[in-house]
Amino acid sequence: MSWSEVDLFIIGGGSGGVRAARIAASYGARVLIAEEYRVGGTCVIRGCVPKKLMVYASHIPDEMRDAVGFGWTISSTEFDWATLIANKNSEIARLEAAYTTNLEKSGVRVVKARAQFEDAHCLRLSSGEIVRAKYILIATGGAPDKGAAFPGIEHVISSNDVFDLPNLPRRVLVQGGGYIAVEFACIFAGLGSEVTLAYRGDNILRGFDEDVRLHVRGELEKSGIKLLMRSTVAKVERCADQRIVCLSGGSRVLVDEVLFAIGRRPNIQGLGLEKAGVALNPVSGAVLVNNMAQTSVPHIFAIGDVTDRINLTPVAVREGQAFADRVFGARSVEVDYGDVPTAVFSQPQIGAVGLTEAQARDRFPLVDIYKTTFKPLKATLSGSASRTLMKLVVDASTGRILGCHVVSPDAAEIVQMAAVAIRMKATKEDFDSTMALHPTSAEELVTMREPFARHVRQGEEKSFRSCEQPDCALSQSGHIAASPKSA
Ligand code: FAD
Ligand code: NDP
Repeated sequence: MSWSEVDLFIIGGGSGGVRAARIAASYGARVLIAEEYRVGGTCVIRGCVPKKLMVYASHIPDEMRDAVGFGWTISSTEFDWATLIANKNSEIARLEAAYTTNLEKSGVRVVKARAQFEDAHCLRLSSGEIVRAKYILIATGGAPDKGAAFPGIEHVISSNDVFDLPNLPRRVLVQGGGYIAVEFACIFAGLGSEVTLAYRGDNILRGFDEDVRLHVRGELEKSGIKLLMRSTVAKVERCADQRIVCLSGGSRVLVDEVLFAIGRRPNIQGLGLEKAGVALNPVSGAVLVNNMAQTSVPHIFAIGDVTDRINLTPVAVREGQAFADRVFGARSVEVDYGDVPTAVFSQPQIGAVGLTEAQARDRFPLVDIYKTTFKPLKATLSGSASRTLMKLVVDASTGRILGCHVVSPDAAEIVQMAAVAIRMKATKEDFDSTMALHPTSAEELVTMREPFARHVRQGEEKSFRSCEQPDCALSQSGHIAASPKSA
């Protein structure tokens, strides 16, 4: 059977492309997927999965330190970077093989080649083969951005390189204050490297709740990471195996690796999108799509990071599934982008879903904040200085929980379940009436009884004086001074 004509040509075998391919094939479509690097894409090969394995590795030294308070004597320990990388690589290879086998079992043709548009219906593979497709799905993901050029930029690595370094760097400078910068600063610090994190603004993790940002910054500092705010790399000089980093303020730092994690850009270079007439966002270069993932060319669709909306694996997967259901399964499904939970696998982790306090106060006239910061039970014996933060943002007019923000060792696991409740429009009363699971950290989410603060949107103070609870006197600033569970 010739593969020169297909129903669906997918460019990119990552999270979104793989899901779309399997589902489209299950509806009987003839599907070809082209992958220029490794099947599985960013998440499996150089993103979520290897990152999380490295996160686990980086927690072990802390667990060994904690063990002492529980009576353990750990006489000698040794860490071998090469073993970690080799084991990580074999797990990634296993996953890549499983993804490929599953695609082939579904009847999808997998081609290990780069694809580019010849015209709006035809694609050229790097093997020279030309394939005509009724529908085309662009699922090419994103790539690390190194920003504007500066002297020595060639000595800087990105997240693509960080998974295969020959040695654990003894000293690392990380530029950036987002997901990747914070996660890798913690990974390296956990493994024993001396870490400096340089961020261009006033505080890391822009976009997260302000309390979370402050709390995490304090936790990173406690773990020994040196945070330099309002700092960017101006120049890097290589001196044998070391890098001399000159920062914007004039200071110099001597390190073994400089990791840039300053965002990612949509992967569109050399795709030939202009030959197909696909419209792009003029600033970001993202492929423009409507809520059906359709580009400016009706039979060409795009999903995942290349569209630069919410750049997370489960979102790309959901978009791939919805695309295939709609186009090949005649089902009318739309992706709901509301209340997408997210995590930063820092140490401790951040888990967040829904609105931040600032977003809620902007959108709702009356907002209650419940929050607590505490020493987790384990820390009483381990002596760890780490503290947990739990915060609920509530629409005080209806009681509905608008946001849940957690900083704790298992924040991501906790918030995954809180996301279900929030999606079901749970109220504070629902949380309060849920029996606590004791002793856990997460039980704080169902036992915070008194609001820490009530905020009335400016100009609407009068309308809410009457609905105040008698024991919750509203101050002029809109704050109620109460922090019942803080310790
Ligand atoms: P990708 O998975 O990037 O797949 C695109 C594929 O297209 C790639 O394999 C690429 O080689 C291929 N390709 C590109 N151009 C062509 C071409 N012309 N021809 C053929 N093939 C082509 N998300 C989370 O939800 N949780 C996490 O913990 C998390 N951690 C991350 C950690 C890191 C370090 C990074 C970089 C990202 C992380 N992400 C995480 C984000 C997540 O990896 C992405 O959102 C997700 O992989 C996007 O899927 P995608 O299908 O859009 O693209
Ligand atoms: P982010 O967008 O999360 O963070 C980029 C950081 O770099 C920000 O702090 C930003 O600052 C800073 N920055 C941007 N441009 C410059 C510049 N020119 N010079 C100096 N600093 C700059 O991107 P990441 O690269 O960390 O990650 C990319 C995406 O991958 C994430 O947004 C996320 O969608 C996904 N991801 C998800 C993970 C997870 O789910 N756990 C883990 C890793 C990645 P400012 O805030 O001031 O703009």
